Amino acid sequence: MTDIDTIVIGAGIAGLTAARLLAGAGRRVVVLEARDRIGGRVWTDRTGGFVTDRGASWIHGILDAPVFDASSAFGMPMIEFTVGGYQPDSRPIAHYAPTGVRLSAEDAARYVADIHAVDAAMAAAIEASAPDASYRDVTEVALAAVGAARGWDGERAQRVREYLEHRSEEQYGAWIEDLAAHGLDDDQIAGDEVVFPEGYDALARGLADGRSDGLDVRLSTVATRVEWRPDGVDVETDRGPFAARDIVITVPVGVLQSADFSIEPPLPAEVAEPLSRLRMNAFEKIFLRFAERFWDDDVYAIRQQGPEGAWWHSWYDLTALHGGPTLLTFAAGPAARATRDWSDAEVVGSIMTQLRRLYGPGIPGPVAVQRTDWQDDPFAGHGSYAYMTLGSRTSDHDALATPVGGVLHLAGEATWTDDPATVTAALCSGHRAAENVLGRAIPIERAWGGGLG
Ligand SMILES: Cc1cc2nc3c(=O)[nH]c(=O)nc-3n(C[C@H](O)[C@H](O)[C@H](O)COP(=O)(O)OP(=O)(O)OC[C@H]3O[C@@H](n4cnc5c(N)ncnc54)[C@H](O)[C@@H]3O)c2cc1C
Repeated sequence: MTDIDTIVIGAGIAGLTAARLLAGAGRRVVVLEARDRIGGRVWTDRTGGFVTDRGASWIHGILDAPVFDASSAFGMPMIEFTVGGYQPDSRPIAHYAPTGVRLSAEDAARYVADIHAVDAAMAAAIEASAPDASYRDVTEVALAAVGAARGWDGERAQRVREYLEHRSEEQYGAWIEDLAAHGLDDDQIAGDEVVFPEGYDALARGLADGRSDGLDVRLSTVATRVEWRPDGVDVETDRGPFAARDIVITVPVGVLQSADFSIEPPLPAEVAEPLSRLRMNAFEKIFLRFAERFWDDDVYAIRQQGPEGAWWHSWYDLTALHGGPTLLTFAAGPAARATRDWSDAEVVGSIMTQLRRLYGPGIPGPVAVQRTDWQDDPFAGHGSYAYMTLGSRTSDHDALATPVGGVLHLAGEATWTDDPATVTAALCSGHRAAENVLGRAIPIERAWGGGLG
């Protein structure tokens, strides 16, 4: 016999949400977490007195957004920062030509209009695409149609092509030919985006601590095997066995696919097949702090076009967030894989070569650098989040959450079709898992102390 009703594996946002809702409904819940901290891929680093979100930083649209509601309920300060979805416009952006010269306002407007024209043609191209088409395939269809109708030369089409390559990399950490045609279907942003000057991790703390009671979270406890049967589950960990009536598993796709984590009997085909079509990406953040600001005033981001920008093409001005001159750039997709084993000095040198093309050879190097290494993190599944490989369908995400044997429930960012790869997905999937365990609906607001009326 066991005194645990539900085991939750993973104390990221999905696991904490499920655990909070289940505990609030009277269930005895234990959360098993491999790391020595909660939050998972929401991780705020406070080294050197700087607040740096090494994992998620944005709420990608605050309208009708449960993460915004939760963050507001927990009193988390927020700053508006609306180009986190790789938008070409909507906020001031300094666009640089392949020559390294800033585009005039007129040229920038033409470039942005070209992107919007191709975007408008994308929905039809995606709709008509073959099941194993790539995002590259559909962008080429849209580019050809718009380019022919408007008489674009090769150079003009190439600028938009590059932009779409970078969108695939920055949004999904995947090269455009590896991402499914439908891989960016969720790419909608409702309302402003915001970031957290005091750190995103307050969301995890709020969920874990509750209004008056903390959850039972066992840190530094690595689950290695889950065995399920119609009447219960057994879990092996490096801290001994656990048993319960049912289980919510929120580990990343890369952990589910690894030999270090097994589920017995194996997941049924309706879950295993969609899982096999998802893959962890390669997406790293690089924060550069400077003694002095040398870039354009009043811009949210700096972007460069052309072959020199193949890896380093976008920089985000986090000065308002960090209290000192700071740029954030991403090593995304091929750049992340190629630089994985590089030293910080090598990466900074490569980035500064590009910034010096734009701002002159005299600009100083950074005084401090922070660089993530999600690809080397086994508990993140060796990546930042999952993307849809060729042949996958958007419904694959939700299919992962199909209850197994009435006792086993998968949750986490990859299991939410509406908005995968986000904190929203984690939160909403944790809510759905709690409802599936309870066999009834429960207001999501209860995860942050609301919805009691
Ligand atoms: C660099 C980066 C930038 C991002 N940017 C954004 C953004 O701006 N906005 C946004 O909305 N989203 C962003 N995301 C995505 C977002 O962080 C994730 O979608 C979300 O945090 C995932 O939550 P989760 O609960 O599904 O998974 P996780 O947070 O990964 O939680 C799973 C937990 O399981 C634990 N675990 C793993 N294996 C085991 C094991 N064997 N035993 C026990 N425990 C285990 C892990 O340690 C982890 O704590 C970003 C992610 C990264 C990495």
